[in-house]
Amino acid sequence: MPKNQFRDDFPILNNVKMNDEPLAYLDNAATSQKPQLVIDRISRYYGYENANIHRATHALALKATDDYEQVRDQVRHFINAKSRDEIIFTRSTTESLNWVAQRWGEAKLKPGDEIVLSILEHHSNLVPWQQVAKKTGARLRFLDFNQEGVIDLNAAKKTINAKTKIVSITQVSNVLGSIQPVKELAIMAHEVNAIMIVDAAQSVPHFKIDVQNLDCDFLAFSAHKMLGPTGVGVLYGKSELLEKIDPEFFGGEMIEEVSKNEASFKSGALRFEAGTQNIAGVIAFGAALTYLQKVGFDKIAAQDRSLMEAAISALQNRPQVKIYGSADPANHTGIISFNVGEIHPHDVSTVFDLDGVAIRAGHHCAEPLMNRLGVSATCRASFYFYNNLDDVERFLIAIKDTEDFFN
Ligand code: PLP
Repeated sequence: MPKNQFRDDFPILNNVKMNDEPLAYLDNAATSQKPQLVIDRISRYYGYENANIHRATHALALKATDDYEQVRDQVRHFINAKSRDEIIFTRSTTESLNWVAQRWGEAKLKPGDEIVLSILEHHSNLVPWQQVAKKTGARLRFLDFNQEGVIDLNAAKKTINAKTKIVSITQVSNVLGSIQPVKELAIMAHEVNAIMIVDAAQSVPHFKIDVQNLDCDFLAFSAHKMLGPTGVGVLYGKSELLEKIDPEFFGGEMIEEVSKNEASFKSGALRFEAGTQNIAGVIAFGAALTYLQKVGFDKIAAQDRSLMEAAISALQNRPQVKIYGSADPANHTGIISFNVGEIHPHDVSTVFDLDGVAIRAGHHCAEPLMNRLGVSATCRASFYFYNNLDDVERFLIAIKDTEDFFN
């Protein structure tokens, strides 16, 4: 078996045991592992570079400001945004999506307006819109998906209409791994003057995103699912829309001038980043992006695909295993949702755990999707480019151990 050239960069993969077994980490959709250089970057900032940003003029503060702002440029290029002012640092995808729901949705919607989501959404792209609908009197509408786990565009044509003001859709299902036609949905949204929001939490880590090509109005993702630290998220928003939004938080860093009774605010993304930000986290996220770009999305997609192919073709020989969504690795990132006969997913994942294989079992923060699939929970194995065929082998052994244990 060819050696995975990236594996040694991730200390946890080679050094940590789970239940006395070497770790096979297949819970990447929940969070990715971190390469040593990202861990070192956090440590270097606190050890040798620590200073607050956008305030003092001493050399340490200038360097920290520069490093933090360079990551904004890096993210801008990474997703091909037109301007650095379109990149706002948040804490997570969840915060980014709540931000748009509250700052745009609550401010603009009125009774009778419609918000179009899909039945595949993660709760982070559902519950905020439920709250907006309650507050504004707008109505939620849901797009269904086909056998491949992909949103049905013909049905979408009928659902997206003159009443639609917002379309907010995940680009990759965190349960089925299927890639959704968000570009086509953006065209439909814009035809009726609605805005298009993309939840890119599961897509940005796996393939190249170009926000200008997608022509989405907002796009949200999290650093921790793409080798970066927790507590850092990104919200991309088109400048012409961000200019129409008032800041939510006021205080240090976001102001231009303050008198006793008045304040003026900075322009661009900075007016949305009040107070001291997660400086170390953002700077380390920059190191993660540099590393990911060196790996390259071609390699990432090829590895996703070959691991999926190996796992799925072996699972097809196990009649007890049911895979949800399409079993075709094309148009998929490395996520497989499955159940083993009638065995409860939590019991399955307990056997996996004893075998040292980390998967996730549960509703995956997508309860409406579980209802649509007719189950209360599934098991989910999710791969990333540092996984190898040995991990797939371990996964298959754990399936066999589960069947042997419960049958
Ligand atoms: N959206 C999708 C599709 C996800 O998979 C997740 C996390 O699993 C989220 C949103 C929320 O991400 P976070 O917990 O980083 O805010």
